This record gives sequence, structure tokens and C-alpha cells, in this order.
Amino acid sequence: VLLCDLGRGVMPGIALCSEDEASVQHYRQEMLAKRRSLIDLLEEFPACELPLNVYLEQLPALRPRYYSISSSPLQDAHRCSITVAVVDAPARSGHGQYRGICSTYLQNMQEGEYIHAFVHDTRSSFMLPEKLTTPLIMVGPGTGLVPFRGFLQECAVQQVQSEQVGETLLFFGCRRPEQDFLYEDELRSLAQRGITELHVAFSRLSDQPKTYVQDLLWANRALLEQGAVVYVCGDAGAMAPAVRKAFANLYCEMTGQNEQQAEQWLTQLTDAGYYLVDVWPS
Ligand SMILES: Cc1cc2nc3c(=O)[nH]c(=O)nc-3n(C[C@H](O)[C@H](O)[C@H](O)COP(=O)(O)OP(=O)(O)OC[C@H]3O[C@@H](n4cnc5c(N)ncnc54)[C@H](O)[C@@H]3O)c2cc1C
Repeated sequence: VLLCDLGRGVMPGIALCSEDEASVQHYRQEMLAKRRSLIDLLEEFPACELPLNVYLEQLPALRPRYYSISSSPLQDAHRCSITVAVVDAPARSGHGQYRGICSTYLQNMQEGEYIHAFVHDTRSSFMLPEKLTTPLIMVGPGTGLVPFRGFLQECAVQQVQSEQVGETLLFFGCRRPEQDFLYEDELRSLAQRGITELHVAFSRLSDQPKTYVQDLLWANRALLEQGAVVYVCGDAGAMAPAVRKAFANLYCEMTGQNEQQAEQWLTQLTDAGYYLVDVWPS
């Protein structure tokens, strides 16, 4: 009933919780797409009074947030790290700032404070290949870099133990070097030591055209022919499909095949465990 009243306020004459098509559409656009919460509506329509106990009953239970481990147990068996992007942007509803619950909480923690967390084995196949000499192509813009930091730490330890490791290419993308080049020193040091070949795409440099990781793949296509395993990690929205498209284009240009054949090739690679994707919604 409250939502109906509020809904009439949002768009007079159309309730948000009716089942007719127009209302459902309206609810999707105004509530779901903009991620408007009940508190947003109450603030927008102060005439609607909601008893506190009813409001509290409406709150959904907090769900756990997952973070990929960004370090290797081979480097330190007693300590692991996570790398978190803080969600903090103008709210899609158009009202105020949207701050992510967990990432903001983590951001505000002081050194030495404790949190309760659990380690969950996702049984993911997103891990280094058993054969150490297999070449790797890792594509991870932003926090997509997270698992690759662990991979590279592992490769570095293996190399010190004089094991022969395959060639690795890391494609990282960020806005500007001084803004969000995560682990810059560490990555440059790994590149200098020959653990990886580092390729960085900056999307917001004032004097250069926007470059994204997918733009850098072409120059390094040779490794694909050597049976490299491709890993893609990060934003499920725009990045993952764009990278997939870039690999499909690469295949078309390398072989003269068409888009449909490129899609089949990617599906085969995926099924055979040579194209591994680990993405989450941004
Ligand atoms: C398997 C897995 C691994 C992951 N690994 C990592 C990792 O290594 N590092 C990392 O940083 N994250 C990672 N994530 C994402 C992480 O779990 C959280 O989803 C993320 O940190 C946001 O949580 P939050 O509580 O801060 O934000 P929430 O309070 O949960 O808010 C996020 C929600 O708000 C929406 N939203 C975002 N911006 C706005 C806006 N401006 N207005 C309105 N709504 C908005 C988003 O679409 C999203 O639905 C991973 C997710 C999965 C599933």
C-alpha cells in the first residue's frame, strides 16, 4: 500500500506495485534500474509516514561480499590480501552519493582492527595451469588485476626455485597512472625481473586517445598461437564482452574466418579451459 502511494507520487496515476505492464515497466525504470531504496522514497515523499518497526522489517538481511585473494600462499603461507575498489559515486537515483556498504566499511577501518571473514573455496577453474611452462595471457583492468597479482607472485617464487615457467603477458587498464595504477611498483618490478610482460592501457590521459586493454591485444597475438591460456577478470558489464569481442576480431584477422567461426573458436577454447573468465557486476 505504501509503495502504491509512493508510486502515485513518482508518476501520478501509476502505482509502482500494480501488475499491469505500465506499472511493472515503471517500477523497473524508477526503482530497480536506479536502485532506489525505501529510504530514498521516504525522503522524497515525507508525507508518507512509516513506523520505524515496519521500516526495520522491510530491510533485507545483509549478504556477504566476496573478494578474490590477491596474493599467493607460496609467497606467504600465513597471510593473504584482498584488493577492494570502494564503491562511491553519485547515486543512480539522482539523489546524493551512493556508497557501497562493505567497501566503505573496509575503507573506514583503522590499521589493527579486526573483521570477521571466511575463506570460501569457489571450486573455480580460474587458477594457474598445472604445466608451469604454459604461456599465460592475463587481462585484468581495475580490480580485475586481483587474481593475477597472486598468479605473478607464484610465478616469481617458482622462478626463484629455478623452475622453468612459461611466458606471461599482463594487460592491465586504468584511468591515469597517478590515479589508479594499482600495485604499480610491484608490477614494474615483476616486469623488470622478467616474470611478466606488462602492458598498461590508460583510458583518461589528456594528451592521448582512450586506450583499453582490448586495444593492446593485437600486438601480442603470437602467444595465442603458442597455446596460451587466456584469463579475463573484472567488470562483467562492459569489459568482459569487449575483451571477448577483441579476441574474436583477432581470430578473424589471423585466420580470415568470419565472426560466427570466431565465436565457435572461443567456445571451444572456453570448453577446453583455455579461455577462463572471472567477472562480477560493477
Ligand atoms: C566472486 C567475486 C569476487 C569478487 N572480487 C572482488 C575483488 O577482488 N575486489 C573488489 O573490489 N570487488 C570484488 N567483488 C565485488 C564485491 O563482492 C562487492 O560486490 C563490491 O565490493 C561492492 O560491495 P559493497 O558492499 O561496497 O557495495 P553494495 O552496497 O553491495 O553496492 C553495490 C551495488 O550497488 C550498485 N551500484 C553501484 N554504483 C551505484 C550507484 N552509483 N548508484 C546506485 N547503485 C549503484 C551496484 O550495481 C551493486 O549492485 C567480487 C564479487 C564476486 C562475486
